[in-house]
Amino acid sequence: MTADEMKKKYQDWVFKMSAYRMAMGIIGVDKMTVAPTAGAAYRDERTAYLAGELFSLETDPSMPEVLQGLIDDPSTDGDTRRACEKYQEEISHTLCIPKDEYVDFEKFSNESYDAWLQAKQKNDYAIFEPYLTKMIEEKKKQYAYRKKDTDLYDQMLDDFEPGMDQQKYDAFFAKIKEELLPLIQKVKAAKPIDDSFLKETYDIEEQKKFMDELLTYLHFDKSWGYQNETEHPFTDWTCENDCRVTTKYLPNSVTSAILSTVHEVGHAYYEHDVDPKYDGMILSDGISSGMHESQSRLCENYLGRTKDFWAYNFPHLQKHFPSQLGHVSLDAFVDALNVSVPSLVRTEADELTYPIHILIRYEIEKGLFNGTISAEHLDQTWNDMYEKYLGIHAEKVSEGILQDVHWSSGEFGYFPTYALGSAFAAQFVHTMRAQIDVDDLLKNDHYDRVIAWLKENIHHYGCRYDAKDILIKATGEEFNVQYYIDYLKDKYTKLYHLENV
Ligand code: ZN
Repeated sequence: MTADEMKKKYQDWVFKMSAYRMAMGIIGVDKMTVAPTAGAAYRDERTAYLAGELFSLETDPSMPEVLQGLIDDPSTDGDTRRACEKYQEEISHTLCIPKDEYVDFEKFSNESYDAWLQAKQKNDYAIFEPYLTKMIEEKKKQYAYRKKDTDLYDQMLDDFEPGMDQQKYDAFFAKIKEELLPLIQKVKAAKPIDDSFLKETYDIEEQKKFMDELLTYLHFDKSWGYQNETEHPFTDWTCENDCRVTTKYLPNSVTSAILSTVHEVGHAYYEHDVDPKYDGMILSDGISSGMHESQSRLCENYLGRTKDFWAYNFPHLQKHFPSQLGHVSLDAFVDALNVSVPSLVRTEADELTYPIHILIRYEIEKGLFNGTISAEHLDQTWNDMYEKYLGIHAEKVSEGILQDVHWSSGEFGYFPTYALGSAFAAQFVHTMRAQIDVDDLLKNDHYDRVIAWLKENIHHYGCRYDAKDILIKATGEEFNVQYYIDYLKDKYTKLYHLENV
């Protein structure tokens, strides 16, 4: 094959895969939002078929040679070389699994999701437990095909965040335990902040009206994105100009849909802002989970919970809810928005206790894969750990072990990236605030200019570089957890007047 033939073959292959991925992505969004549940079995079978076709395409036996050929060819540009290396890695993980097993797994994964949803709705862990047990076995089987010496859970962690392993996460979470658990205790003992007005009844139709205004403030443009509702908010995309975010409205929490929207739109911006020349390629798709979460959590917490963000938005919110918020001052609202109280549901957790929710999931996942924890009675283990770290336990499994979707589709190793992403975000924000006047921009309706900084320093690279290198490019230094610890300590010490405690 000549260099040109190789290039053509490579481009065709990438294009076809992007077509399958687009179809499956949109079917996936449909399933999680509006698709009628009774049609699930029919759809799941056909989705599994499509996954099988994509699998065959991805593992086309002639491609490894093409990819290696392009990597070795000195005339190949840097972007293509990097993409080929990323594809090589991805293929090596998929190729080793026999196709029929792969298709069976896709089907099982869909069934497992359906079982999780049913178990959550019926508040019955027993419905999901056999699926979780099987999922763990399936994952062990899949990873065994890779024939690597590395520890199984380390491989899973690396899949979601290249370069991370248990040793590094252990050190990260040790720091969180050492520095944040005592702070959480001090906050618990401090004078509580009144946030009762956030939990009054907020009409959902009225919440949706405010949401339209919020999406305008966020510059989330209908020409490239739209919002839908779902059980467990997420974001998906097919290309630069097709990003779908989801949210969930709760009548007794006005901030839930708002903050989840700011979060998911943060994910959407990342995809929208990746250099469009990477559209359809792995350089746009393969961004690490930690980097993605760093951007969504940066938007949610480091922007969306600040006084200046609300200096602009609070009067609008008040207008929709005069009886609940008309008498509340901006300061009281922002303080309430940042209240820290140990709670059961991760996605509703405050910034300070959030990493503890992740720590618990990390310790459970570690245990599930090193054999010290079993899926049987995991609802109990879950509660014991919440009791140990946060002093609370779930009465209902829907607010305990069944609250998150991840394990139902075998996404073990994903959770730790949420905490890591928050910590990355602290480091980015530290640099960003030194370079632009974030507060002034937020207050004056220039959210887009804050996003522009993120685009220039982080988003546009896609995964052209590893997270580690993007951190260095943007902040001038390697990942440093201290920014995160300092940020939380400073914020909560001031909020709860702990200076002299
Ligand atoms: Zn997220």
